[in-house]
Amino acid sequence: MVTSLAAVALSHVGKVRSNNQDSGYAGASLFMVADGMGGHAGGDVASAIATNRIKEIDHAYPTAEEAQIALQSALLAANGLLAETVFEHPELTGMGTTVSALIRVDGKIAFAHIGDSRIYLMRQGELKQVTTDHTFVQRLVDTGRITEEEALTHPRRSVLMRVLGDVDSSPEIDTWTADTYAGDRWLICSDGLSGVIKQEVIAAILANVQSPTAAAERLVRASLDAGAPDNVTVVIVDIDRATADGIREPVTVGSAASPVLFEQEPSAHTRALRLPGLRLHSSRPATGPTHFEPQTDDYLDELIEEDQRRARRRKLTWLLSGILLLIAIVLAVVVGYEWTQSRYFVGESGGKVAIFQGVQQNLGPISLSHVYQKTDVSVSSLSDYEQQQVQDTINASSLQDAQRIINQLSDDSSG
Ligand code: CA
Repeated sequence: MVTSLAAVALSHVGKVRSNNQDSGYAGASLFMVADGMGGHAGGDVASAIATNRIKEIDHAYPTAEEAQIALQSALLAANGLLAETVFEHPELTGMGTTVSALIRVDGKIAFAHIGDSRIYLMRQGELKQVTTDHTFVQRLVDTGRITEEEALTHPRRSVLMRVLGDVDSSPEIDTWTADTYAGDRWLICSDGLSGVIKQEVIAAILANVQSPTAAAERLVRASLDAGAPDNVTVVIVDIDRATADGIREPVTVGSAASPVLFEQEPSAHTRALRLPGLRLHSSRPATGPTHFEPQTDDYLDELIEEDQRRARRRKLTWLLSGILLLIAIVLAVVVGYEWTQSRYFVGESGGKVAIFQGVQQNLGPISLSHVYQKTDVSVSSLSDYEQQQVQDTINASSLQDAQRIINQLSDDSSG
């Protein structure tokens, strides 16, 4: 039986975004994160509307199953509210929000989840993600098209398959219940944390920092230290740990903590990007890939095809680079060899003084010189000093220079 609970909610705009489109809530029984998206003010409006609507159901429930039903209907109600808001403010068309929420009912938790915010459970030192991202790349992972590793850097990694918004009147929301035990630590966060900080680092902070407030601060700090390209929101719920931070009031953070403001002017940008069967959530491109809300399986096929096209293009680029590199190497070898063949030196060949074309050095087993012209001058007819010189080879600056050296040697030997 759970008797005590400590919780904290923290949200930061990050280092790149101009506004915070995330919202977070830590109440009496309900805890949630919403990550909004949409043109201009759309994102913050969407997450604030959803959060304010859903937190209305923050009260005690007799069973987790009832809390689960309450969550399901609250998320659907929030979805309807978003559609109504867009109807009244068409400039907000295309806005949407993720929601990851939980309600504690004694030793049980009820969950509701849509989008790519995440819920993790830290139990006995092990961190486990309990939600599944409703993203395009997660679908590619689930269907075995790409690995978890590839998903982390996939160019489409933030394309969402499902959100609350004005697109679908009955979006598919994941809801379920699970047991919770004394010592459990639940983390709800936006992708400004999970997409920026490695899971091992999150686990280490949650395991080592006892106070939930300090742990939340450490997580947000980690994201800021990593450049915080996105808004970052963290909610931590500790079950029956000796860390209760005293009496706690419900706390709302992020855009839901401020009054909701609407843009006066419709956004031409958002309008221009509207396509049939496909909506562009256009506030994220400031720093990351654009979010899409796909409407049909055709769209998924289209994305997969695009992915394959990209892979083919990458292959072709590699192939072309390889060919160019090979050409460059061959050219360098040819030019280098040509240069060696413009050099001459005097040396010995079969007991006679000879002019060699090339250079004395060898390239591995390949000789870079050959006899150009043999003379009648015997090396043995030369003085000891000259014999030594010829055996060591004498560099010539040109063919004429080599001939001059030979003449000098033969003059010396005959004289
Ligand atoms: Ca985000």
